Amino acid sequence: MENCLFCKIATGAIPSKIVYQDQDVVAFADINPQAPNHILLISRQHIASIADLTLDDGPILAKLFTTAQKLAHDMGIDESGYRFLTNVGPDSGQSVFHLHFHLLGGRKFGWPPG
Ligand code: AMP
Ligand code: ZN
Repeated sequence: MENCLFCKIATGAIPSKIVYQDQDVVAFADINPQAPNHILLISRQHIASIADLTLDDGPILAKLFTTAQKLAHDMGIDESGYRFLTNVGPDSGQSVFHLHFHLLGGRKFGWPPG
């Protein structure tokens, strides 16, 4: 996808602090971290948001979730806890239209979210 920031991060055309990558997914540090641990997880394939998902995307979603599980363990936040979330559309504040999950940890989070 031309002119997609996260597609460019996935190919390495735009530099980022990649913490994990394989043929399907890339995980990199959020440039504006909201917690001591703040990683973004994306598929290499361009999907704009949850709004564009179909059942065929099940395997890539499972891959993103299990990668988050592994990274949370590696970062040492699996026992203290973490948030794993994705924003969809204007009210959520979604600002990059390539499906991404925020993995946040290392501090306590409030509920409900602000
Ligand atoms: P969202 O608001 O859910 O669409 O999240 C987009 C996230 O991407 C924000 O948390 C930004 O800080 C982050 N972000 C934007 N540009 C970059 C970049 N070049 N490298 C890493 N993270 C970025
Ligand atoms: Zn993209």
